[in-house]
Amino acid sequence: MTDCLFCKIVSGDVPATIVRESAGTVAFRDINPQAPTHVLVIPRDHHPTAAELAAADAGLLAEVVREAHQVAVDEGIAEAGYRVVINTGAQAGQTVFHVHAHVLGGRGLNWPPG
Ligand code: AMP
Ligand code: ZN
Repeated sequence: MTDCLFCKIVSGDVPATIVRESAGTVAFRDINPQAPTHVLVIPRDHHPTAAELAAADAGLLAEVVREAHQVAVDEGIAEAGYRVVINTGAQAGQTVFHVHAHVLGGRGLNWPPG
């Protein structure tokens, strides 16, 4: 998708601080971090939401989740605890419609979220 911000990060047309890559995914630091660790994991292929990715390529969704947990290990937050969030749809706060998993940690996280 030519006008998708996260597709441009995948292609290198928009810069990002990439922390991890796999065959199907790219992980990079969120530009407006909400926790000491705040990384986004995205599929290289454009799918707007988690629901659409699950329907189109469940294996790729599994790869996104696997990579999210590997980011937590790399960041040293896996043992203390961390959160993986996929906002789906406008009411949930999704603003970029290229599916992404937020990996958040490095501080206590409230539950339920606001
Ligand atoms: P969401 O609200 O779940 O759609 O999350 C979108 C996230 O993308 C937000 O946390 C933004 O801070 C983040 N974001 C937006 N633009 C960029 C960018 N150029 N590089 C890194 N993260 C970004
Ligand atoms: Zn995209």
